[in-house]
Amino acid sequence: MNLTLEQIQDFKGKYPRQIWSLFFSEMWERFCFYGMRGMLVFFMISQLKFNEVDANLQYGATQAFVYAFTFVGGIFADKILGFRKSLFWGGLLMIVGSMILATNPHDYFFLGISFTVVGTGFFKPNISTMVGKLYKNGDNRTDAGFSLFYAGINLGALLGGYFCVAIGKGEMFSNLIPEDKRWNVAFGLAAVVMVISLVNFIFTQRRLGPIGLQPMQILKNGQEVAIAKWKEYGVYVLSLIFVPLIMIMVAKPEYTDYFMYTVGPLTLIYLFYEMSLVDKIERNKLFAALVFIIFSIVFWGIYEQSGGSLSIFAAHNLNQDLLGLDPNGVNNSGGAFFILLVAIPIGLLWIWLNKKKLEPNTIIKFGLGFIFLGLGFYAIFATKFFANAAGVTSLSIFTVALFIITLGEMCISPIGLSIMTKLSTQKLQGMMMGMWFLASAYGQYVAGLIGANMATAREDASNIEKLTTYTSGYKDLGLYAVIAGIVLIVISPLVKKLMHEVR
Ligand code: GLU
Repeated sequence: MNLTLEQIQDFKGKYPRQIWSLFFSEMWERFCFYGMRGMLVFFMISQLKFNEVDANLQYGATQAFVYAFTFVGGIFADKILGFRKSLFWGGLLMIVGSMILATNPHDYFFLGISFTVVGTGFFKPNISTMVGKLYKNGDNRTDAGFSLFYAGINLGALLGGYFCVAIGKGEMFSNLIPEDKRWNVAFGLAAVVMVISLVNFIFTQRRLGPIGLQPMQILKNGQEVAIAKWKEYGVYVLSLIFVPLIMIMVAKPEYTDYFMYTVGPLTLIYLFYEMSLVDKIERNKLFAALVFIIFSIVFWGIYEQSGGSLSIFAAHNLNQDLLGLDPNGVNNSGGAFFILLVAIPIGLLWIWLNKKKLEPNTIIKFGLGFIFLGLGFYAIFATKFFANAAGVTSLSIFTVALFIITLGEMCISPIGLSIMTKLSTQKLQGMMMGMWFLASAYGQYVAGLIGANMATAREDASNIEKLTTYTSGYKDLGLYAVIAGIVLIVISPLVKKLMHEVR
């Protein structure tokens, strides 16, 4: 089936057909990724006998490197491999990583994790960029498409995050799997679903026309020739060299700090260099993309409290007044659950508003995202007023707060993916998508710092004291988020100018 780009982009209805295949490949990849991520800290503490602090630091380092590598994966896709080969190579590395962990997680833990880190870097940004390619410039159905894709991300996250660790801990299938093989099976499951993701992608490729093919090299005389094979193999070899390097870097938390201090400025310098090579309109658009990227660091810095300080808050200060559910379970998976509930309706809402000429543009959507985030954190603050004398408060109200935060996430995360594909020049699509995820790495990093700063409550403090300390921290975060939202809305005319015709 040899489709042209026009045939793909001239689709009828709300979604292009190909988006479903990309949805499933990404869903299984996220299952593998979040499955592994969900096992990391627990496995390090219970099996590798790390103390809690070290396990958390190593978890943070892994997250930082995963998202930092998306930038590298994006550049190599733009310059040499193309999106399809990058995705495939990344998927293979993720399978190898999960298989190493499935075979002997105790002895080769960091080797397996490092393969997964590099693999995700090649896979994650490039599949998102291909979603953008299914749409013509200016197609007002793009944000709805990314919302749907985002539902796939979260379905994978929810299933992987739940099943892998439950199998490893022996909470599921314990009568079928011998005790000493549970972790092997859990990591093995991540490998199996990643194989499904790649097999699905092989079938998808046939219907992608020219999307994601290897770029051509343009000679001085303007002639286009295929990229030399040695360059392609060079990327494969280089990425394998990164694996032991990451093992070393993840092992010492201070290396992560050095890495974070240097990698951001270096990528900015590189972006400015690339910006100097394009015309003024393209440069303005890239600048606008940078504004979104920088704001997203603030968003994730606040949002990602869920993995850190909010899990401590859930453990100490929330009751089980919501169907008897475990507060930490709700904190971990409530967001993904709500995304699945609202992703498609919100996407359709954008299309409907567009028809009525009422759809907010991307900057306003971002501004709204921050305001929802802020209101959500204010709602967490408000749980304090429903606490009993022991400092334990309502999980139901906390869940309402999670829902409000999720509305904010839907205005930022899928919209951000979408706007990256719209504002990037043809040749920098992968790199800009990588930068978008690199901002997440910084967001996670900042989240850790904020969380640590907030955890000033002593270990032996009473629950009431902890409640007061944490909720007042969340009130401040809520305020910062609302301020960021207002700033975005105020500067929107300026950013709009930089975006030219893009909305
Ligand atoms: N939860 C989303 C994902 O895994 C967000 C990633 C991010 O930008 O941080 O794809």
